[in-house]
Amino acid sequence: APRIGVLALQGAFREHRQRLESLGAQVSEVRLPADLAGLHGLVLPGGESTTIARLMTDFGLWAPLRDFHAAGGALWGTCAGAILLARGVQGAPPQFGGQQRSLAVMDLTVRRNAFGRQVDSFAVPLDVHGLDAPFPAVFIRAPVIEEVGEDVEVLARHAGQIVLVRQGRLLASSFHPELTADARLHALFLGLAAPPVPA
Ligand code: GLN
Repeated sequence: APRIGVLALQGAFREHRQRLESLGAQVSEVRLPADLAGLHGLVLPGGESTTIARLMTDFGLWAPLRDFHAAGGALWGTCAGAILLARGVQGAPPQFGGQQRSLAVMDLTVRRNAFGRQVDSFAVPLDVHGLDAPFPAVFIRAPVIEEVGEDVEVLARHAGQIVLVRQGRLLASSFHPELTADARLHALFLGLAAPPVPA
């Protein structure tokens, strides 16, 4: 079974664990660099990206997470987690000088809270490239993906905005796939985390 970690500093990590376990993955919680040992993939959950970033500094996780990916580990960022993967972050609050630290492993720019404060959260049936029926996508103060590099594959848009992308072993979603019973995107991630052995 693929061994998948869930970054468990803040946010919706328990629900990710449940979805992944329902698919047969062996799931563990990651708080310290040593927790990454032996994993095939790691989910960075939704929550509050500046809070998660501060805790990543406290726990010394920035370089180990980049090393984990460089060594072949798959990463999936959902909502706040997607912000943490992006090369560029727009819309950070003024106390961060408009700048916000991120892992910068994915060639994309995100804009925080981009669907506006009037509509803090909503759910839509989302057409996803490669899925034969719409995915029930829950958006909560979600970022949009504004710019993507050549190597980034756009898998879904909502209202013209990019909300799901893939780049190699990296996946980023603006929405929260762990908040519905539909585990198809978790299955997609398991496929990235444990590529089939070539025949
Ligand atoms: N608005 C949050 C942020 O910018 C993300 C919200 C979420 O993860 N649901 O960090």
